Amino acid sequence: MINIAIDGPAGAGKSTIAKAVAKSLKIIYLDTGAMYRATAYFALQNNIAVNDADAVSKMFENFNMDIVYENGAQQILVNGINTTPYLREHYMSKAASDISALPVVRYKMVDLQREFAKTHDVVLDGRDIGTFVLPDANCKFFMTATPEERANRRYKELLEKGQEVDYDTLLKDIIQRDYNDSHREVAPLKQADDAILLDTTNMTIDEVIEAVKKVVEEKVSKEEKSDDAPGELKSFGTPSSEMPEKTLKRIKTYYKPEKSFRLYRFLRVILRPLQCMLWPTKVINKENAFKIDGGLYLCNHYSTFDSLIPIFTMFKKEAHILAKYELFINPLAGGILHKMGAIPVRRGEADTDAVKAVLKVLKDDKKLLMYPEGTRNKEGSQEMAELKTGAARFAIKTKKPIVPMVYYKPTKTCHKNYLYVGEPFTLEEFYGAKSSEEYHAATEVIREHFDAAREGVNAYVESLHKKKSKKSDKESK
Ligand code: C5P
Repeated sequence: MINIAIDGPAGAGKSTIAKAVAKSLKIIYLDTGAMYRATAYFALQNNIAVNDADAVSKMFENFNMDIVYENGAQQILVNGINTTPYLREHYMSKAASDISALPVVRYKMVDLQREFAKTHDVVLDGRDIGTFVLPDANCKFFMTATPEERANRRYKELLEKGQEVDYDTLLKDIIQRDYNDSHREVAPLKQADDAILLDTTNMTIDEVIEAVKKVVEEKVSKEEKSDDAPGELKSFGTPSSEMPEKTLKRIKTYYKPEKSFRLYRFLRVILRPLQCMLWPTKVINKENAFKIDGGLYLCNHYSTFDSLIPIFTMFKKEAHILAKYELFINPLAGGILHKMGAIPVRRGEADTDAVKAVLKVLKDDKKLLMYPEGTRNKEGSQEMAELKTGAARFAIKTKKPIVPMVYYKPTKTCHKNYLYVGEPFTLEEFYGAKSSEEYHAATEVIREHFDAAREGVNAYVESLHKKKSKKSDKESK
């Protein structure tokens, strides 16, 4: 994925540059400021003070943000309502700056931004992208200009739109926003150590675009070359924001629960022996999987095919699995996945339809399989990538148990496949949790269970190796 971070204070020209760079690279532009603006707009609409942390925290209990693109232009929907037309009003800037200082708001937006960047090639502009949201972004820029020049630019922009504003008020607001943004507790406005500084005070827009594009193109072409190196797996698939309307409509119908699973049962009977032959896998502690009636089954995975093993071994009748939207593009594959009970999920977006479908499955005491890393582990290491908070949220909301499963990564010395099923556990101590911080803490608990299961599978494989080498020692004697 290409992730380009452009940070800097208000009015430095970030959005103009970010849009132009995204267009020239044919990738998406994510205006993170608009996300804070939309949050502030929603608060104001509901008479919630933008600096009241408790009230905003409560507001988030019923708050879903969707980022969609219409003819290439970003639209932010909150609880299904498009807030975009109202976000650039002058008073919204101050409200966004105030609400963005609340830790609960930052964690929520940062989660969404990270998800988005994981699944899309994107240029993001903001205040904390290079330092906090995406410290590993491919390219980072910090764009600035004197407060007077920035106020002047805003003044001209608003005049062109026919809005009457006073230059001195704009300058005062900009200075105040700079102060707020750089002095807040969580992720303040700051240049990342590895960001390129661009002072645009005396540069034209075209000069800045050229300077940014030059750095990005060099970096991207270098990374494309290293992407071709063996062992690197490229991502594939079209993000939902770029899918044709017809495809999107079809996939939407898959949110309705499937009634008959006969096709899946039939396919499983045929494909299971094939999988055993091509991908023989020993399942360790399989009985743990059947200790609970329904709940979340969480697993890591390394390749497209190993994901079949937990499905075939644990889901004999229905296979409810959270699967990325892109897998449903092909009508045949999409149809089969639906007949299994799979639920499409738009990664990087607050996909309320997917959430509702998952909650329904869990409330019906069924089993749901999820990959909490959000994707296949491409690192090639036994360690797991950062876990998303989605699984914790589902387990807390439905009060259902979790079964952690760890897939052993075959190594040069051990080519066999092992799937280790850990003890089921619950997140009971978090029931009733609502805040992002609590979901992060609950996700840490899930990670601890995964770590224990990983230790279990590694110890198991190691003891097998020891036994084997003892046996071969004896034979050679
Ligand atoms: O960039 P824009 O002016 O639209 O951002 C509105 C406000 O949102 C900023 O003043 C800043 O306080 C906040 N913001 C932030 N972090 C970001 C983007 C914007 O705190 N990544």
